[in-house]
Amino acid sequence: LAATAMLVPLAACGGGTRGTTAGGGSGSDGVKVGISMPEQMLERWKIDGENLKKQLEGYGYDVTLQYADGKTDLQTSQIQNMANNGMNYVVIASIDGTATGAAAEQVAANGGKVIAYDRLIMNTDAVDYYATFSLEDVGRMQGEYIEQKLGLKDGQKGPFNVELMAGSPTDNNAGYYFKGAWDVLGPYFKSGVLQSKSGKVPSSADDWQSIGIDNWDRQKAQNEMENRINSFYNDGTKLDAVLAQNDAEATGTYNTVEAAGWDYYPIITGQDAEKANVQAIVQGKQSMTVYKDTRELAKATAEMIKALVDGKEPSAPDTFNNGTKDVPSQLLTPVTVDKDNLKEVLVDGGYISAADAGL
Ligand code: BGC
Repeated sequence: LAATAMLVPLAACGGGTRGTTAGGGSGSDGVKVGISMPEQMLERWKIDGENLKKQLEGYGYDVTLQYADGKTDLQTSQIQNMANNGMNYVVIASIDGTATGAAAEQVAANGGKVIAYDRLIMNTDAVDYYATFSLEDVGRMQGEYIEQKLGLKDGQKGPFNVELMAGSPTDNNAGYYFKGAWDVLGPYFKSGVLQSKSGKVPSSADDWQSIGIDNWDRQKAQNEMENRINSFYNDGTKLDAVLAQNDAEATGTYNTVEAAGWDYYPIITGQDAEKANVQAIVQGKQSMTVYKDTRELAKATAEMIKALVDGKEPSAPDTFNNGTKDVPSQLLTPVTVDKDNLKEVLVDGGYISAADAGL
């Protein structure tokens, strides 16, 4: 059965002109889609993968979903297998956007199209489309939250102690996230309103990797914050805020504060609205998270593929330069969530149940 389906020329090559089938089919027979996700430590990648798979299967496509366990080499070989298996479309959320280029080229060489998911694939022609959230906005929202909660716009002069962490040095997104935050916070560091007792402040946004956390690893973030807190804040010096750029880093931070037994939590930012972090916001351990509705990202990506299968132009009104080309992109909108709008946005919006949110 599979063999006959595979012999039919694919709609992907010819503008969706295939004949209809008994079910009034739309040329979906034999369309093969590979999905390569980075890891499963964060729930978000599980939700992304499952939603993508479900939606693409709903279109009648044959879907292979694989997770790479945070290992670049494993991801490369998984994508190469997808290429060798003749996948017509491969959706890739890269662990290392530069390292993934060669595997993407193999997909392209075998006639497949590559869609970069959430994270861009760098320095290659072999990426056809990109779907993500407005990256700099995510960091800007974290920076603005700290700015607002410390009353900096109202003229509070501090100096306030703020510790900064950036994302994984291999993740192309992380530089954008830090830039967004630094556009807001950088001027306050220059004027001395904000300071870091650890001295771990990059000289500019371009130097963000110097404060990056490998693989966005929660334990590494925790070790980092333990070092800083034990060295600089355990004598009663107040830590006012921590720029944690995702929920794994936020968890590492509030775990450290909890273990230190302080009678307060600093302002702690985050990203992803992971279940445990939503609960932490409800409990007052974490201040905010930047919510990115991964259901919407999966939907946008699946619709891009459907458009291509049907011979239509996918919606990709923006562009992102990957060092080699301007990649047509679709950017979705992130939302700041804290205890004040958590129920309305996340629970009423159906992303998380009231029980899971700890409400
Ligand atoms: C994603 C974040 C995620 C992080 C760690 C980033 O590229 O955009 O949503 O928290 O990777 O997986």
